[in-house]
Amino acid sequence: MSAISPFTISKQPPVILVADDDKTIRVLLREAMEQEGYRVVEVTDGKQCLDAYETVKPDIVLLDALMPVMDGFTCCKQLLQIARNNLMSALASLDTDSALGNTVISKIWERTPILMITSLDDEESVDRAFEAGATDYVTKPIHWAVLRQRLRRLLQQAQIYKQLEAANLALQHLANVDGLTGLANRRRFDDYINTQWINLAQEEASLSLILCDIDFFKFYNDQYGHPAGDLCIQKVGAILNNKAQKHQDLVARYGGEEFAVIMPYTHATGAVYVAKTMQAGVRNLQITHDGSMVSQYVTLSMGVATTVPTWESSPSDLIVAADKALYQAKAEGRNRIVIK
Ligand code: GH3
Ligand code: MG
Ligand code: MG
Repeated sequence: MSAISPFTISKQPPVILVADDDKTIRVLLREAMEQEGYRVVEVTDGKQCLDAYETVKPDIVLLDALMPVMDGFTCCKQLLQIARNNLMSALASLDTDSALGNTVISKIWERTPILMITSLDDEESVDRAFEAGATDYVTKPIHWAVLRQRLRRLLQQAQIYKQLEAANLALQHLANVDGLTGLANRRRFDDYINTQWINLAQEEASLSLILCDIDFFKFYNDQYGHPAGDLCIQKVGAILNNKAQKHQDLVARYGGEEFAVIMPYTHATGAVYVAKTMQAGVRNLQITHDGSMVSQYVTLSMGVATTVPTWESSPSDLIVAADKALYQAKAEGRNRIVIK
């Protein structure tokens, strides 16, 4: 029976970090592992293993249970602590952005497998090893065929987790991105405005929202056809995205020919300034629109609303306000900005 090689997915040979105080065992392990095509890095106690871990970034750790300075159980616990700390700091570096948060949480799977090797095969030691967080356990004297198969399996599992994570990332991307424009979609808009609402309510900082809609777009489609209409939506979306300057700003396709810009930490004056540059940007595209009653080119009507989020109000209040402003911009003759 031919097992799937751990190299099928990643072309690099897997790196094994071996921690054992017994030189003979280390030499034997190195020979056996290198025969399998793995790269081996040796250390002689748990402390060295911790020190080497971050630099070596092993695909798997082989850990002897009894070693001087720091034993395998303690080292195992601390390796887990390192993985946990890395995860926490990655989480802390996120501004409670939920889509990215999920990404980081899925990284929990990336934890490096730890295989304990020990001459202690009493029940208590086995329990201790698993309680310390070991992924698997083999006893000395080493049964080489068993070790080989365990290593293969653990490496395959780690690769499968990586593939799942990549698939997960791709799905999250698809779930949050509008297919036509590549901008955030409505789902992402809803997530983002909700998380920003909570953030800014705590910080008592302002949140602005621009809703905009292409004027007389039905006539544009009627005259130039749907493919041209799609292209127009793409160009307008790209310009809006280009004009949103702050890294927290989110430009989303809100619906058909409507876009939304979420602007955390932005006062009304800032939001109006951005709306004006977006309006000018679209005008400068000079997309001919003979069916428009207000310009020879494609134009936008825009509604701007600003608030300081509170626990008593909700994002939908801000959306309603921006929508009213947009409606008013339409009613007052289109190709204009109205502020609520
Ligand atoms: P107003 O100035 O009042 O906004 O008029 P309008 O014609 O732009 O508004 P209306 O809501 O009547 O029409 C919107 C049009 O946008 C109708 C719809 O076919 C078109 N549309 C929506 N999504 C897409 C799309 O993805 N591609 C294309 N080509 N057209 C779209
Ligand atoms: Mg329209
Ligand atoms: Mg519309």
